[in-house]
Amino acid sequence: MTISRASDILPLSDAIGRRFEYLRLSLTEVCNFSCTYCLPDGYKKPCQRPAELTVEEIRRAVTGFAQMGLWKVRLTGGEPTLRRDFDEVARAVASVPGVRRIAMTTNGYRLAERAQIWRDCGISAINISVDSLDPARFAAITGHDRLSEVLRGVEAAQNAGFDSIKLNAVLMRGVNDDELAAMVDFVTTRDLSLRFIEVMRTNDNAAFFDQHHVAGQSVIDRLEAAGWQRLPRVAGAGPAVELGHSHARGRIGIIAPYSRDFCSSCNRLRMASDGKLHLCLFGDGGIDVRPLLAADDVAPLIARIRAAVGAKAPAHRLHDGNSGSTPHLASIGG
Ligand code: SAM
Ligand code: SF4
Repeated sequence: MTISRASDILPLSDAIGRRFEYLRLSLTEVCNFSCTYCLPDGYKKPCQRPAELTVEEIRRAVTGFAQMGLWKVRLTGGEPTLRRDFDEVARAVASVPGVRRIAMTTNGYRLAERAQIWRDCGISAINISVDSLDPARFAAITGHDRLSEVLRGVEAAQNAGFDSIKLNAVLMRGVNDDELAAMVDFVTTRDLSLRFIEVMRTNDNAAFFDQHHVAGQSVIDRLEAAGWQRLPRVAGAGPAVELGHSHARGRIGIIAPYSRDFCSSCNRLRMASDGKLHLCLFGDGGIDVRPLLAADDVAPLIARIRAAVGAKAPAHRLHDGNSGSTPHLASIGG
C-alpha cells in the first residue's frame, strides 16, 4: 500500500469549500440497548443484512481517507463494542499513517472492565451516552437498569487516562429536561465534558420527535444565564456550540442540527458498517464503496470519494420536514 507524505496530501473539500478532516466509522448497526429515540423496540435483524466490514476493509477505507487528510476517526454504531474484534479494529485504525486521533462513542456497556484495554489500543477520546442520572429514568430511556454500571465505566475511563471524556445526553421534553442543572453540576465537579444533543428526527421516530424535541438554543440560554460563556470557535471545529465556565474544568457542547447555519461548519463524513459512504446524517442513502475495498490500491477509492464529496449538498432539509432516508441513527452511526 502506498503511503502519502503529509506534503502530498490534497485536502478533501466540497464545492462550497467545507473541508473534511473527520471520519465517523460505524462498526455495526447492532445494539443491545433500546433507547426510546433510536431503537425503541430494540435492534431487529433485517432478513438480509450485509456483512459488516472486515478489519482489512476498515484498514483500507481509513487509509484512503487518511490520504485525503482525514486525521480523526470515531468508532461508533450501533454499539461498536459489541463487535468481537473491536480491539483489533481499534488497533488497525491506530496503525494507519496520518490518523492522529481515535475516538469512540459507546452506551457504556463493558466500559468498566474494558476502559484500560481500549485506551491501550490507541483510543484517546471517548463519548459515553448518559441520558439521565436517575436510575429509573435511565432504565426507562435505554431499556436497561444499568446506570451504576455505566457510571463505574465513566470512572474507569477517567482512571485509564483518556485525553477527552464526554457524556452525551439527548435532551427530551418531559423526560429529562428537568435534569439539565443536575447534569451540569455532575460534570463541573469532575474532569468531564458534557454534550447535549437535540433529538433528531429520523424516519422511524417522527412522533417521538414531535413530542420531545427541545431546541438547543433554549439550553444555551439557560447556561448563559448561569454564567457559562460561549467559547470562540476554533479553526476546524465541527458544528457543536461550546461553552465554558471559570469554575468548571470540562466544557459543555450543544449539538443543535435545527439551528441556523449548522451545516456550514460540517467537517465530517460517515461510513456505515456495510461500506456505504454517507455525506450527511439526513441524506438519501449511501454510496456503496465496498467493492473498492477489495484491494490494497486505494487510488480508485479516493477518486470515488472525491467525486461524491464534490457533489455534497450544502445543507440538510430538516427545515422542510425532510430528514432523509435514515431509519434511525444506529443504522449509519450517530
Ligand atoms: N450506541 C452508542 C451510544 O449510544 O453511545 C453509539 C451509537 S449512538 C447512535 C451515538 C449517539 O447518537 C448517542 O449519543 C445517542 O444518544 C445519539 N442518538 C441516537 N439517536 C438519536 C436521535 N434520534 N437524536 C439525537 N441523538 C441520537
Ligand atoms: Fe443503541 Fe446507541 Fe441507539 Fe441507544 S442510541 S439504541 S445505545 S445505538
